[in-house]
Amino acid sequence: MNMQVSSFIPPVRTLMGPGPSDVSDRVLQALARPTVGHLDPTFIGLMDEIKQLLQYSFQTQNALTLPVSAPGSAGMETAFVNLIEPGDTVVVCQNGVFGGRMAENVKRIGAKLVLVEDDWGQPVSPQKLEDALKANPDASVVAFVHAETSTGARSDAATLCNLAAQYDCLSIVDAVTSLAGSELRVDDWGIDAIYSGTQKCLSCVPGISPVSFSDKAITRIRARKMPVQSWFLDLNLVLAYWDDTSAKRAYHHTAPVNSLYALHESLLVVKEEGLENSWARHKANHLKLKDGLESLGIEFLVDEDYRLPQLNAVKLPAGMTADQEATVRGRLLNEHGLEIGAGLGPFAGKIWRIGLMGHASSEANVEKCISALNDVL
Ligand SMILES: *Cc1c(COP(=O)(O)O)cnc(C)c1O
Repeated sequence: MNMQVSSFIPPVRTLMGPGPSDVSDRVLQALARPTVGHLDPTFIGLMDEIKQLLQYSFQTQNALTLPVSAPGSAGMETAFVNLIEPGDTVVVCQNGVFGGRMAENVKRIGAKLVLVEDDWGQPVSPQKLEDALKANPDASVVAFVHAETSTGARSDAATLCNLAAQYDCLSIVDAVTSLAGSELRVDDWGIDAIYSGTQKCLSCVPGISPVSFSDKAITRIRARKMPVQSWFLDLNLVLAYWDDTSAKRAYHHTAPVNSLYALHESLLVVKEEGLENSWARHKANHLKLKDGLESLGIEFLVDEDYRLPQLNAVKLPAGMTADQEATVRGRLLNEHGLEIGAGLGPFAGKIWRIGLMGHASSEANVEKCISALNDVL
């Protein structure tokens, strides 16, 4: 082989898209610390702290709270394959891209899918969910996305989970974009299974998915008739490694040691700031961005009541074509080092998605984004 290869030195970007978000130097430094064995006694101590910090971030006492060693999509799959068996009836509420992936999980498990659809950009309708639950009394699980990153819409998780419980269903909630960015209370809201990701409002490196399961969910997993179809994501097996009550941790897979240093540090950042303060900061910077965008004549896609502060979905300036919008994003990246997101699915070439997630949710970034857009437009 005769090729010239040298170390990869990435450009410095400001990441204001739908994820990953900017990772702070503090978290990157944690990542770079020396690797230890994943059964090293000091590493076991780190795992216990990660669990406690995750319980704080999720606002839960759930014992089954841990980081899955793979991205948010694997957290999604963990919830679905553990709680659902072939032949079960599952209600999935879809109002964007990620609800569609939930539906795909249900189909692949061989369960019966009941799809409750809302227009993209709208929150999930509790009334439609209730109608579906009445029409399908055998349903055992309700799944929905709390913060739809494809549209910037927030659904009312407390009300939807309450409905699920009334109809004897467990709830699965996608909180990949909501965790640490806007109000989320797993125990108070009665969420049975939740998953998130490290690369959005935690501002950690991509590739890990924090999850948490209620006692009701654990009872369901223990009562399964069939083994979980995925060996890697089977919580019964993963638990044997993460279980802090067992004296001897069993090897399941090699934990991503350095990524977990980074996760620990990013969760510590959240704890130090305080969860409520983090939610308030995301909101304040969103309002500042909104003022700036509106002064450029740019309008929001989602109704004010359901807007996500960490994911600002906006319509293109009047008359702008899909080609022109791609050029604008290209210039923002090349001339200003600024990444913003494009639209997905029916919104491709129609909207921009401007993220203000975690470390990237700052006044300086809001100003940078507005002045760069002003310059390019
Ligand atoms: C990003 C995202 C995911 C997928 O997370 P990955 O880490 O990319 O696998 C799932 N759901 C929502 C709502 C997301 O925003």
